[in-house]
Amino acid sequence: MLKQQLAEVESNIQAACDRAGRDRSEVTLIAVSKTKPVPVLQEAYDLGIRIFGENKVQEIVDKFDALPEDIHWHMIGHLQRNKIKYIVDKVDMIHSVDSIRLAEAIEKEAAKSNRIVNILLEVNVAEEESKFGLHIDEVVPTLEKIASLAHIKVCGLMTIAPFVDNPEENRPIFAKLRKLSVDIMDKNIDNIIMSVLSMGMTNDYEVAIEEGATMVRVGTGIFGTRIYK
Ligand SMILES: *Cc1c(COP(=O)(O)O)cnc(C)c1O
Repeated sequence: MLKQQLAEVESNIQAACDRAGRDRSEVTLIAVSKTKPVPVLQEAYDLGIRIFGENKVQEIVDKFDALPEDIHWHMIGHLQRNKIKYIVDKVDMIHSVDSIRLAEAIEKEAAKSNRIVNILLEVNVAEEESKFGLHIDEVVPTLEKIASLAHIKVCGLMTIAPFVDNPEENRPIFAKLRKLSVDIMDKNIDNIIMSVLSMGMTNDYEVAIEEGATMVRVGTGIFGTRIYK
């Protein structure tokens, strides 16, 4: 089942790239494995998946120890400052940085272990009350404040679009994030690159790719429905 679902996601990604005139290599698939047990991740690994997304610190720590070393772990969930230390040396990228305080706390932990941590700024494009993330007008001031931090590298932007019935409804959200990233590139802020646009989940990753996503975070589409205990 996993094999089939993965093949389907892969063919949808290719089709979206084709429609947008993009090369498949421009889009990185992150397999969102939160709540799924280690054997299921191992199965995905055996099918060639090397990039997993998780939203809980404890799950990353547990799975990191139980699975092969060549996996790239992406932290995609809300991160508390006091937990950074547990994952700072385990993750390739933190997608969910939504404050200067959090960026500074990551800087501090990264400096301790002499690492440079890749981060994305999470943007609440739709301005949903229930969601984390910076408002669009907070992004540049935040970038200007964190650009000088030596142990973090801002690689781009991330958003979680609203849950909608028709993914077309999220197209303007994705277009807005893309525009923001282009505007930021034009400002040439020192130490800030904007090569990553992490947007699109199971319901809307194809639209996100058409609008320029370079990372899509797909959970249900690969692993099936999640059961929360
Ligand atoms: C759970 C989650 C996903 C994946 O969601 P699906 O709808 O299952 O694809 C993507 N991004 C974030 C931040 C998530 O928490």
